[in-house]
Amino acid sequence: MLVIMKYDATEAQIEAVIRHVESLGFRGIPIPGALRTAVCIVGNQGFIEDSQLLSLEGVKETLRVTKPYKLVSRETHPQPSVITVGSVTIGGSQPVIMAGPCAVENEKQALTTAVIVKKYGAQIFRGGAYKPRTSPYSFQGLGEEGLKILAKVREETGLLIVTEATDVTNIELVEQYTDIIQIGARNMQNYSLLKRAGHTAKPILLKRGFAATIEELLMSAEYIMSEGNNRVILCERGIRTFADNTRNTLDISAIPSIKEVSHLPVIVDPSHAAGRREFVIPLSRGAIAVGADGLIVEVHHDPPRSVSDGRQSLYPEQFEKLMLEIGRLRNNLT
Ligand code: PEP
Ligand code: MN
Repeated sequence: MLVIMKYDATEAQIEAVIRHVESLGFRGIPIPGALRTAVCIVGNQGFIEDSQLLSLEGVKETLRVTKPYKLVSRETHPQPSVITVGSVTIGGSQPVIMAGPCAVENEKQALTTAVIVKKYGAQIFRGGAYKPRTSPYSFQGLGEEGLKILAKVREETGLLIVTEATDVTNIELVEQYTDIIQIGARNMQNYSLLKRAGHTAKPILLKRGFAATIEELLMSAEYIMSEGNNRVILCERGIRTFADNTRNTLDISAIPSIKEVSHLPVIVDPSHAAGRREFVIPLSRGAIAVGADGLIVEVHHDPPRSVSDGRQSLYPEQFEKLMLEIGRLRNNLT
């Protein structure tokens, strides 16, 4: 870290910064410049709070040279992580496709949709049993009954299951039924949930919060990994911007940005980004073209009757088209 002193900082103030840094067990090396002095802090044990240094007299700003995350970083793990769940690999050479309804509504709906998405090539079935809804009056999910339906879907179709844990109070139940635990956008900074997710044996699908930077997303993944769970899959699902043509704005640059600094696989959710099924196929093409490791897509056997997110759910024939287009794109890219 560099502590940049104000242009009129006195020698005594520079000395005080060095002494403070030494009192924390680090070394402070003054680097005089033409206009101002910087103090370079060396010694990589522990963490220094920027605010402590900023409160010292004569300090203008602090600059971190190394990133605050470690386990998610390519510096500690240069090769991309490949996560294996059952017979499916995420982060390998082939994009993984997770598909299914927004919410598990009943057994018939879940099974009908699962048979369709499996037929067209999805490997993982998605569907919420616990739904984080903006309104308390909206459908909140079937809870454990929904998890039982998901287990039945796995039994009958062989598809793996991804479903969301919305709270520390339901993650224990969710982990008993699912293959991958989703942590949703609204919970990306629910630190007690992230820490608990670090103690499960199941991989975590961590979705980017709609107002979160890439660094904040990576720090949330670091919470999970620092508790011992290395199997984290990141998901770009659109962020909130001034653009009102879509539900959220798909940040396509998030994929190469994350891959530049992190070894974790990144998938894209075009459904919650677009909010409209018409845009799901073009956004999916874009996601795969920029290097996403897969997609999580909402599909419903009868979207107009869907209890949530029907507007963005693909009809079965649209999902078939999506899979054909992704296959073609993959062949052209390899
Ligand atoms: C979901 O995938 O069901 C969901 C609620 O997504 P997000 O957390 O991205 O809004
Ligand atoms: Mn949804």
